[in-house]
Amino acid sequence: MPILVMKFGGTSVADLARIKNAAQKVRAEVENGFNVIVIVSAMSGKTNELVGWVNETSPLFDAREYDAVVSSGENVTAGLMALTLQEMDIPARSWQGWQVPVQTTSAHSAAPIEEIQNDNIMAKFAAGMQVAVVAGFQGISPEGRITTLGRGGSDTTAVAFAAAFDAERCDIYTDVDGVYTTDPRVAPKARKLEKISFEEMLELASLGAKVLQTRSVELAMRYKVKLRVLSSFEDMSDNAGTLVCDEEEIMESNVVSGIAFSRDEAKMTLTSIADRPGMAAAIFGTLSDAGINVDMIIQNISDNGRTDMTFSCPTEQVKRAEEALNASKEHQSLNFEALIADTEVAKISAVGIGMRSQSGVAAKMFNTLSQEGINIKVIATSEIKISVLIDRKYTELAVQALHDAFALEATA
Ligand code: ADP
Ligand code: ASP
Ligand code: MG
Repeated sequence: MPILVMKFGGTSVADLARIKNAAQKVRAEVENGFNVIVIVSAMSGKTNELVGWVNETSPLFDAREYDAVVSSGENVTAGLMALTLQEMDIPARSWQGWQVPVQTTSAHSAAPIEEIQNDNIMAKFAAGMQVAVVAGFQGISPEGRITTLGRGGSDTTAVAFAAAFDAERCDIYTDVDGVYTTDPRVAPKARKLEKISFEEMLELASLGAKVLQTRSVELAMRYKVKLRVLSSFEDMSDNAGTLVCDEEEIMESNVVSGIAFSRDEAKMTLTSIADRPGMAAAIFGTLSDAGINVDMIIQNISDNGRTDMTFSCPTEQVKRAEEALNASKEHQSLNFEALIADTEVAKISAVGIGMRSQSGVAAKMFNTLSQEGINIKVIATSEIKISVLIDRKYTELAVQALHDAFALEATA
């Protein structure tokens, strides 16, 4: 029988009534002739609560214990989903990540999946089981410890299962009915996209659109998984959602396809560093050793052999970055005057594969922001995206203004 993967996010399994609603969607697909692998998230808010408990107990926590705690929300929903399906007379059972097993590296709290063994579940399908309910977000390390895949990681569990079981499709059920031109909660004029290319979705996700975890898009692209995002609150018959697919399958082509933003961004500046070979290597080597995810980088022109270096990183990593850079200064492997952290910034990005062939996008973006009186602090570009750092308080204004400027509400 063909296999279908259906993933339900936190709001879709937030209480027993919603689990029942999700189970009815699963039943419909079983009746369509599929063996279904259901991937569930924890009830919405649960993972945040668990993370809060860990931080309160141990601010510099042991990541192995963080994973032991934080993975537990998914165990509850997996069991409840299996019970709900059984109550509907559908043969189903739950699996925790380690039982499958979902093998990951030992990079606790954000572990990449290395392999998913499908024989256990396949044997159960062969024996008449119709639905395997799997706790998303979890894996097991080579040392036999429970790992988690990073926040939003159930999306990645779902896509990895679709690849490992050669599924017909991977359907991601969430609280919006597809991928929009920007977060519809921030820009009410956002338009739902029928299709979006893997490349664009990858950029949007990595630049802050949390509708899909970045790694899930990477995996879908690599393994050619047919990936769909749709709402768990609407009737399936009139809910086609958004298909994430190859560029060639998309007819419409706006220069800019979407606007992403991330409020979880900080700007750090090292002042008065010596402008000589090896300084950038020393700074970013130190940061990389400390596990800091540096994104944008600018170096100012030098004045009297000294220069300033600015970079951005996630807000939660600011403390660690400061510690690492100050330690390097003490050991005299780095010399700078001051380290200034600005944690009140946001990153706004315009994404579109049309940028490869069309110029003028950057000019339009900067113009639009200037008309709104928004100052740009840092700029970064790549082939299909332009990102700027601005004051965080202007996030909504900037997103809405850019959405208008690139005429994203109009159908292409
Ligand atoms: P789930 O719990 O189902 O995994 P998430 O909260 O992780 O759901 O992701 C869905 C949310 O992503 C939406 O509620 C929406 O606010 C947000 N989002 C951000 N950018 C976009 C976008 N471009 N299109 C759709 N949703 C987006
Ligand atoms: N429950 C986890 C989280 O909140 C994983 C997920 O929902 O995808 O990050
Ligand atoms: Mg999510």
